Amino acid sequence: ASTALSRIGLAGLAVMGQNLALNVAEKGFPISVYNRTTSKVDETLDRAHREGELPLTGHYSPRDFVLSIQRPRSIIILVKAGSPVDQTIAALSEHMAPGDSIIDGGNEWYLNTERRIEEVSHKGLLYLGMGVSGGEEGARNGPSLMPGGSFEAYNNVKDILQKVAAQVEDGPCVTYIGEGGSGNFVKMVHNGIEYGDMQLISEAYDVLKHVGGLSNSELAEIFAEWNRGELESFLIEITADIFKVKDELSNEGELVDKILDKTGMKGTGKWTVQQAAELSVAAPTIAASLDCRYLSGLKEEREKASEVLREAGLKDGVLNVGINVDKKRLIDDVRQALYASKICSYAQGMNLLRSKSNEKGWNLNFGELARIWKGGCIIRAVFLDRIKKAYQRNPNLASLVVDPEFAKEMVQRQAAWRRVVGDGYFSRD
Ligand code: NAP
Repeated sequence: ASTALSRIGLAGLAVMGQNLALNVAEKGFPISVYNRTTSKVDETLDRAHREGELPLTGHYSPRDFVLSIQRPRSIIILVKAGSPVDQTIAALSEHMAPGDSIIDGGNEWYLNTERRIEEVSHKGLLYLGMGVSGGEEGARNGPSLMPGGSFEAYNNVKDILQKVAAQVEDGPCVTYIGEGGSGNFVKMVHNGIEYGDMQLISEAYDVLKHVGGLSNSELAEIFAEWNRGELESFLIEITADIFKVKDELSNEGELVDKILDKTGMKGTGKWTVQQAAELSVAAPTIAASLDCRYLSGLKEEREKASEVLREAGLKDGVLNVGINVDKKRLIDDVRQALYASKICSYAQGMNLLRSKSNEKGWNLNFGELARIWKGGCIIRAVFLDRIKKAYQRNPNLASLVVDPEFAKEMVQRQAAWRRVVGDGYFSRD
């Protein structure tokens, strides 16, 4: 092992930590890693070796780990949010010195970050709460990073974060978000927006399948085509792909039709809706997507309900699926409805951020937020560039929907959107 000190440290080597550490090392920054369960340290060392002799050193005690990093030290923590973060801070900070920084990269509740900023300040330590988006793959190859808290701590690692983050044509997907827990808050709303995107895609799918009667191969084609236009985004792209996955177990049909229509959640969407309520900001798309997750979880109850309703005389929701429907027009209408709804959903998320920014004095830069979401993260989309430009045109925009460009798009899509959400396509003879 080399005795040279590392430029940075990372504690917490589960999926996210391991991949982010390897990403940092690959960009040429020597990194020390540590994990409570030491087998993960060995696993990471092994990967660093296999993935190209990356400059990464493993450490088996908090003390050795901390002392292996050059001062002022910067240590990223990627452990389960909540008390594991407090426990990790307690174990590490004992060996840290004034001027050193802790950077929590987890999906943390923003007030926990604000509490910790205050707590560690008594030891002279600096603190960042940094949203990391993009899951495992993003962490390894380029995530979107949302660091908030100490500006000095940010400046100490700015060069690293800019190299590690996803790169888009207008720069790396990282920016200093603001003070306090702003980085975590922005990441939370980003996740809420992601819930909205996923719900809108599911509803578009549902209409195309159950009203239009489209097959999986037609759906794959349509989503792939949409991904070449204004809807171009990671989520639309993977949606197109999912329709093509065969069911390898039974060798019959596609996997998508065998997946239970039941989902769970990890909590950030719920926090987003709670915050919207707290701040009296309307976020109906994000709230509806959360409601749909609750309902989807009630699989047994829904099955029983459908029996009761059938016995009470209800016919299947849509009669004559795909018959008497102008498919071409339906597909085009759904595409426009999806785009218009997406504008509304992002407008809600941005308005929630603005309201919080005003309350906390964070001075969030919404154009920059849209820019750093253009790469690395799950909601990455070409459309975010339009949002960036809207806020560049007017940083004080009351809502995205009143930006002149978006307003025009909304008006153009209005009729199609109304046909889809209205009764226009539902034949009931
Ligand atoms: P995780 O499953 O959330 O957490 C596992 C890690 O936490 C392990 O390193 C574990 O150490 C450590 N840990 C748990 N309790 C601990 C304690 N009391 N003291 C010390 N360490 C403790 O890991 P993850 O999925 O990589 O996520 C890390 C963070 O990133 C989370 O906040 C998560 O919400 C966020 N995030 C995750 C994703 C994703 O796609 N997974 C995406 C974005 C953000 P041991 O090995 O010793 O148990």
